[in-house]
Amino acid sequence: MPAMKATLIAAAALIFATVALSAQTSTIRIHAAKVVDGTGKVLTNATVVVQGSKITAVQSGSAGATYDLGQLTILPGMIDVHSHIGWHFGPDGRLQQRDPSPADAILYSAENAYVTLMAGFTTIQSPGQPNDVDLRAAIARGVLPGPRILTSIRTFSENSGTPDEIRAKVQQLKKENADVIKIFASASIRDGGKQTMTDEQLQAVCGEAKALGMRTMVHAHSPESIKASVNAGCQQIEHGVFANDEVLKLMADKGVFFDPNVGVVLQNYLKNKSHFLGIGNYNEEGFAYMEKGLDLNKVMIKKAVATPNLMLVMGTDAVAGAHGHNADELVARVREGGQKPMDAIISATSLAARSLRLEKAIGTLAAGYDADLIAVDGDPTTDITALTRVAFVMRGGNVYKNVPASAAHGTR
Ligand SMILES: [Zn+2]
Repeated sequence: MPAMKATLIAAAALIFATVALSAQTSTIRIHAAKVVDGTGKVLTNATVVVQGSKITAVQSGSAGATYDLGQLTILPGMIDVHSHIGWHFGPDGRLQQRDPSPADAILYSAENAYVTLMAGFTTIQSPGQPNDVDLRAAIARGVLPGPRILTSIRTFSENSGTPDEIRAKVQQLKKENADVIKIFASASIRDGGKQTMTDEQLQAVCGEAKALGMRTMVHAHSPESIKASVNAGCQQIEHGVFANDEVLKLMADKGVFFDPNVGVVLQNYLKNKSHFLGIGNYNEEGFAYMEKGLDLNKVMIKKAVATPNLMLVMGTDAVAGAHGHNADELVARVREGGQKPMDAIISATSLAARSLRLEKAIGTLAAGYDADLIAVDGDPTTDITALTRVAFVMRGGNVYKNVPASAAHGTR
């Protein structure tokens, strides 16, 4: 049926032409008193120009503004490299580890994705659960509001088998399009944080991942577990409550990213203790460890910030109750760790993007980058808490939030 085929081709051509035309004509100009580009540069009285899903220019002045955001500050959409996007409380208010149905589970994930986006996070990395794959695909279709999702799908621990078995599992995750490999090299802080995987297991998982071009992120609290992970060629260390000067320097020397979680996760557990207590290792002893962890974190983050060339990236380890409060992590790093506000901003934008190997696509406001940007009430370069007051959110060129500055407070 050549005639019908020709008609279909003509129809398809028309659709492409329409899409291309709308992409060309839908120029959006977002103006604000200040634009922080994510790499350390600040422009005053500037406009970000967006066409379709990309930024085409960042220029001075306010000419032709589609959105005039007045005194707000525009910056790249923030990135959380460690968010458990599926964790949630159930109808009884308690941590719900087993959901009554897969639909229930994915809808809670979608809720968390929504509140995370509204809090100004346009990309998150989930260290991982299998249904992240469906969430990642759903959000990528461009209708469901949420941050771009990167996921490890599954995780590795001391129970993941022999080095050969571990290598096979890494290859399988590569086939399943995992974005990152997540590894538990040490026990939980609730169990003391000692190294659990053998050096051989760590070498197998990080070695194989590296050979396949995959990134690795390692849960490690004790100095021994951090050292073993770095020496095994792993690329990013999470938590590190007991990190000492030696391993902080080691991470800096080896170019390993460090994601200490000092402002959200433990505070959230303690605030919501009754929602967790009595489930798994959420017992009184575990909570006592977490109380101590708060003080240990205060000491550790100061040392981490003071370690020359250590690449600190923004991650929260957000669990049930914490989604939407992600930016509190940056507030704590600045207030308790003495990190410069601009460095904290970079850690959540261009540097976080680099840790995800997405530094050419996100985390910077410049021509050619994805149109993922937010605006906050205040100047985060002098008042880091401005990052908790998100009034405007655009992801992939779509505006998902645009509220008056006065309504940007407490959006969760
Ligand atoms: Zn975690």
